[in-house]
Amino acid sequence: MALIVHKYGGTSMGSPERIKNVALRVAKWHDAGHQIVVVPSAMSGETNRLLGLAKEITAQPDPRELDMLAATGEQASVALLAMALHAIGKDAVSYAGWQVAIETDSAHTKARIRSIDDVKVRQDLDAGKVVIITGFQGVDELGNITTLGRGGSDTSAVAVAAALKAAECMIYTDVDGVYTTDPRVVSDARRLKTVTFEEMLEMASLGSKVLQIRSVEFAGNYKMPTRVLSSLTDPLMPLEEEAISGTLISFEEDTKMEQATITGIAFNRDETKITVLGVPDRPGIAYQILGAVADANIEVDMIIQNQSVDGKTDFTFTVPRGEYTKAMDVLNEKVKAHIGAASITGDAKVSKVSVVGVGMRSHVGIASQMFRTLAEEGINIQMISTSEIKISVLIDEKYMELAVRALHKAFGLESA
Ligand code: ADP
Ligand code: ASP
Ligand code: MG
Repeated sequence: MALIVHKYGGTSMGSPERIKNVALRVAKWHDAGHQIVVVPSAMSGETNRLLGLAKEITAQPDPRELDMLAATGEQASVALLAMALHAIGKDAVSYAGWQVAIETDSAHTKARIRSIDDVKVRQDLDAGKVVIITGFQGVDELGNITTLGRGGSDTSAVAVAAALKAAECMIYTDVDGVYTTDPRVVSDARRLKTVTFEEMLEMASLGSKVLQIRSVEFAGNYKMPTRVLSSLTDPLMPLEEEAISGTLISFEEDTKMEQATITGIAFNRDETKITVLGVPDRPGIAYQILGAVADANIEVDMIIQNQSVDGKTDFTFTVPRGEYTKAMDVLNEKVKAHIGAASITGDAKVSKVSVVGVGMRSHVGIASQMFRTLAEEGINIQMISTSEIKISVLIDEKYMELAVRALHKAFGLESA
């Protein structure tokens, strides 16, 4: 008997029929003698619908009220799932984040989990109940409802699994695992049986939205075995088969040494590029530009500074799309005149494409192969950034899918 956490995403909870299927699957695991905690997301489309309503009321909704609103999606899901379990004779109880409690900081719409109280959950599990806890939401120390950012139910599930010292966190979703790239973009992408924690962290941070990055961080920090698998299979399929399906995040590097150099291709449409032109090339300039942007709570991703000509240089960096206007305002209002920049330009139509793999460490020539592939497709590279296990390039967004497909092929990632 083991304690296992199941997480079901929006599509998996997308209709009363799907919720009934989730109940059948959960009951199967419980019948096999396991203690089961379920963390569901809101039904698909619900969070978007709620956030859309807020935008119809006001262009700038108060973040605390946004959380109050968005958290209702998951509250509906847990109650419906509890009812579906009751209907098939299972004892189950649902809780909102604050009832558990899942305590977070007060950063509304992007809160971080601080602690999870496991007392009540353990009591229920010991009494033979299936415990259902809302994904995505928590409560701050003042009692305000918070949410963990889009895709945050993954993080709730892994954090709950860590707090309960579960044997495994199973992330059920609408694909049957982690692929070499998004199977919606490359139809012959290949499913990975295992992916190292480090690679999953890079893939998630570089835009592969199959897992929210913070969930991968939790999995790493607590060495929580985490598996991504399909919720769209027959819920009554043999448990032994289901238990080893999908993709397992592994913590053993050595097993990967013999494998392919490149594990996957990640991409991110959520990028914009800003260039500060004609800045005096003197100490402190990078700080004056990026410091102001950081003070406005805007996250900067890629950065380059050009060679200086006649004591002047250009400084380019990327920020998420949602922060573009704010970043331009900060630069125009607070930085431009102060540092004596000639002008500030921006491009909101760029995307980042990255190749990821721990095998890169022991192979040379990955960068040149990547650049050659893009050159052959006539795709211009605007910025480059590298780490030990990834190379990222910024390109015009209209070539993103072409670049992903070409690189997927060039690195031989397609299924056999
Ligand atoms: P859920 O609602 O279950 O949380 P998400 O939509 O958040 O599901 O995540 C699953 C989706 O992630 C898939 O449908 C797929 O299109 C996308 N995805 C992006 N990159 C990958 C990848 N490398 N492997 C698998 N799926 C990926
Ligand atoms: N319902 C939330 C969202 O749509 C959280 C999640 O699905 O993980 O972002
Ligand atoms: Mg998700």
